[in-house]
Amino acid sequence: MKNKLSVVIAGGGSTYTPEIILMLLDNLDRLPLRKIKLYDNDEARQNKVAKACEILIKEKDPTIEYVATTDPEEAYTDVDFCLAHIRVGQLPMRELDEKIPLKYDCVGQETCGPGGIAYGMRSIGGVIENIDYMEKYSPHCWMLNYSNPASIVAEATRRLRPNSRVINICDMPIGMEHGIADIVGVPSRKDLDIRYYGLNHFGWYTSIKDKTGKELLPALIEHMKQYGFINGEEGMATENKDSWFETNLFAKHLVAVEPTTIPNTYLKYYLYPDYVVEHTDPSYTRANEVIDGRETEVFTACAEIEKNGHSKGTSLEIGIHAEFIVDLATALAFNTQERMLIIVENKGAIKNFPDDAMVEIPCIVGKDGYEPLAMGEIPTFQKGLMEQQVAVEKLVVEAWIDQSYQKLWQALTLSQTVPSATVAKQLLDDLMEANKQYWPELH
Ligand code: NAD
Repeated sequence: MKNKLSVVIAGGGSTYTPEIILMLLDNLDRLPLRKIKLYDNDEARQNKVAKACEILIKEKDPTIEYVATTDPEEAYTDVDFCLAHIRVGQLPMRELDEKIPLKYDCVGQETCGPGGIAYGMRSIGGVIENIDYMEKYSPHCWMLNYSNPASIVAEATRRLRPNSRVINICDMPIGMEHGIADIVGVPSRKDLDIRYYGLNHFGWYTSIKDKTGKELLPALIEHMKQYGFINGEEGMATENKDSWFETNLFAKHLVAVEPTTIPNTYLKYYLYPDYVVEHTDPSYTRANEVIDGRETEVFTACAEIEKNGHSKGTSLEIGIHAEFIVDLATALAFNTQERMLIIVENKGAIKNFPDDAMVEIPCIVGKDGYEPLAMGEIPTFQKGLMEQQVAVEKLVVEAWIDQSYQKLWQALTLSQTVPSATVAKQLLDDLMEANKQYWPELH
């Protein structure tokens, strides 16, 4: 019989919390739980989902203890896993991360370019604060951290808490692998063995094999030259033509530049920033879509569950994106030795890349943590792009630690998405003013 585990979800008021709870409840056979806690530093926001989560848990397994709290001691005492998805500054600050750069004709995005840098400067303190609570109250606990911007946050954990039990992860490649599985016609992404390297939101698949060992990459690249990540003519005709459709279709332009690997779709922000800016509405960005869409839908569904006292007929769904969190916790708790993409210190895994860079590569995960797989040497194009981007991320973390205006200016200047030091300085002054409440004071 497996030990039952206790988890805390940090950033309990997140719109992803209910779907993560549904995912946890759907997987109790492989990850048995005795306790689920929600922790947030904004009680009013957490209360929008807390009662509904309690009802979902009681319906599935009334023996699971449940607490929603804003007290760090109560949250972090007696926990085996912390699932961390905090957003310091919440969605109104995301909106500014997206809209301020657009004023300067630069990419306005949550994790890439100037917006990602501004968000990184907010996130570091919040993530470190949560790691410190975890270490104080449950030193054996693992934090599975998917708070964004994951690359900058991962570099900050490497610099500031190098011995902590934190694993930085991202669901983006998982989402892409669902799409790849569809295109190559296998039932699940788990029927694929992949090789991938890069930084977070900045990487490439170099091999995609089915379980017979057949290499699918060349055929997939040919497919992508025509359809990007859309599933052929059928996909073109039937898929919901939202911003993800556009992004997936646009991937064909990424393959045109680098036709030997399969790119992460976020590379469009770095390789085609002019196209992205031209095709973004500066008065209604992704943050507005989320506030009017997912946030409203999730909070309304939670309010209904709370009012009815049951979840029958609810529109809330299990979050497929949360599947990898269950996989990772199961691997750590029960030593499954599963191969997973994680953001880790390079330490030679990519041979011709700095040892101290935080890279996203496949690792084998078991009860003692993760072991990275060797990725060998990478080509000049990818290496050049990655070196530039990793320097940006390191400068952001140094700027936060040293409270250095100069280093943050350098970070913005170096970003592939910013045209000059002049624009970088204007952007910095604007972002610094907007983030006064959240960034350390810069000198
Ligand atoms: P959200 O704004 O809906 O929720 C985030 C919650 O974090 C809020 O309730 C906020 O009050 C809380 N919070 C902020 N600072 C905190 C702190 N110091 N301690 C505790 N709680 C704190 O945000 P969201 O859209 O659900 O996203 C949450 C995070 O997860 C973001 O960073 C987002 O980018 C990230 N995310 C990551 C992935 C991935 O795979 N890497 C996927 C989806 C979302």
